[in-house]
Parts: sequence; structure tokens; C-alpha cells
Amino acid sequence: MSDSSFSRRKFLKVSGVGAIAATSFNLSGVLSATEAQAAESTRPQNADEALKALMEGNKRFVDSTKKGPGRSVKRRKEVAAGQNPFVAILACADSRVAPEILFDQGIGDLFVVRVAGNIVNPTNYGIQGSLEFGVLALGAPLIMVLGHSECGAVAGAIEALQNGTQFPGSINDIVQTIEPAVEKAKGEKGDLLHNSIISNVQMGVDKLNNSDPVISDLVKKGKVKVVGANYDLKTGEVKLIS
Ligand SMILES: [Zn+2]
Repeated sequence: MSDSSFSRRKFLKVSGVGAIAATSFNLSGVLSATEAQAAESTRPQNADEALKALMEGNKRFVDSTKKGPGRSVKRRKEVAAGQNPFVAILACADSRVAPEILFDQGIGDLFVVRVAGNIVNPTNYGIQGSLEFGVLALGAPLIMVLGHSECGAVAGAIEALQNGTQFPGSINDIVQTIEPAVEKAKGEKGDLLHNSIISNVQMGVDKLNNSDPVISDLVKKGKVKVVGANYDLKTGEVKLIS
């Protein structure tokens, strides 16, 4: 990787641990300087712009005015040279929660990590590591943890706590990761499943905000924001969680 490459400069710029990070990843395939500049002219440049683009896309999805952007041959060829997504999203693996569709975005726009229950589990480095790569190496200014209504993984955690149900294999690991969110939601008024889903997202946001050394550092420097949101399967609407 040459010193003049955009990826290296940007990578070092956004990185609080640049010296370590630059030698830790092979970033070949990330945008060249010219390509990156062209793509950045329309790409959201900060967390607020990124969030605005997502919510506007979701409104188009809800209203059935979706544009289906970024799916042309031109776009495909453009991003084949390198990716420059404007957000890293941690969403549930649920087949009904497809971020590119519900946010009306195209290829190369969203860096998506999906796992049942949209969990951040410190023992599963793949999840957190992927999000770190999205913000550190690819420069996405926003991370969104996206829960959804009727989440089966959260329902499983409730089932485990209330009835002592044991799930087979690694499914149990997912459920156990969510259980503290259910415990927290137990004392709240209203529907336990809904409250647990919200609590699980908040727990994920907290974990990421405090995850050393990569994301916490970028958050402290104001280069990255982590937000939580909830997707309603019936209405199609994404609502931010404070
Ligand atoms: Zn789910």
C-alpha cells in the first residue's frame, strides 16, 4: 500500500491507534484517491448527515416512494474499485429486517453486520471487530444498532428466564447475551418483549460506546456516533431510541 493512497491517509486520520491498525489490516481494494473523492461528493460526511440519509430512506420505504438507488451497472462498477459506506449497521439476522431495503439504500452504502438479536457479545470478536473495521478502516461516521419488533432472539431470552428453557448449541450463547436486557426491562411498565427489545438495543449501544480501544476512542474524539433504533415489522418504520 503506497503512502499516497487515500485509504492509508484516511485510515490513519480516523485512527487513534493508526500505527497498529495500519499494519494490522490489508486494505487493498479500498478506494483510490480519485475514486474516493468522487464518491465522497455525494456521500454523507458525518454522523448527522448519515442518520438523516437513513431516516429519509426509511420514510421513502414506509411511504412506498422508494427510489432503489445505487443498483445500476454504473454504481456496481464504481464500488468494485473500493467501498466507502457511510454507516455501519448492526441488525438482527431476521429475514424481515434487510437494511438496504428498509433504508432504501444501494450497494456500497451500508456496512452491515447481522446476527440474531443484534447482539454485541465480547466473546464473539467477529461482530465487534466487523463494526470496528467499518468505522476505522472504511471511515463510516455512524454506527446504528437496529432492533426490531417481535424479535425471536429476545423472546427466547424471556422464555429462558421465565421457564428455564435451555436452547441447543450456540443458540444458548445468543440468548444468554440478551438476558441482562430482559432483567433490566422486567421492572418497566408495558409489554415485556417490546421493553426488552429496546433495552437490548440500548445495551448494545452502551457496549459499543465503551468498547476499547477502537470505537470508544473514535466516539471520544467526536469522529463516530453510535445510535440505537427499532424497526417495526408491520409499519416499516424505524424509530430512534434515546
Ligand atoms: Zn430478531
